[in-house]
Amino acid sequence: MRPTRPRQAVVSVLEGARDRQLSAQDLHRAARRVAPRIGLATVYRALAALESEGAVEVISQEGGEAAYRLCSPGHHHHLVCSGCGAVVEIDECDVDPLARRLARRHRFRIEQHELTLRGRCPACRGGDGKG
Ligand SMILES: [Zn+2]
Ligand SMILES: [Zn+2]
Ligand SMILES: [Zn+2]
Repeated sequence: MRPTRPRQAVVSVLEGARDRQLSAQDLHRAARRVAPRIGLATVYRALAALESEGAVEVISQEGGEAAYRLCSPGHHHHLVCSGCGAVVEIDECDVDPLARRLARRHRFRIEQHELTLRGRCPACRGGDGKG
């Protein structure tokens, strides 16, 4: 049996956590279950390759640590729960009119944009009865 390639290991971990964002450390820990000898540097390399192909999206965290998740193809945005890290993909995008306005004002040519909305998912809002 051929050993699991690092990239496959990383993808399979991400596939198992579609509605979650994972840090490189989380990924490394989980990937070691399928590929025991995988190193953290290898995980980072696999992530960088996947990111450049657009298969993986990097969501930067408050506090600086990047989180990764497998993304659907096509333009979309994310709702991220700051309580549990759940991620919801949003297909609709109303950013373009704003981007055009800002582009005009600042004489920028906008090539792409990212938008991540943070808050609390229903599960994390439950309990105390207040928003
Ligand atoms: Zn996404
Ligand atoms: Zn939550
Ligand atoms: Zn958009």
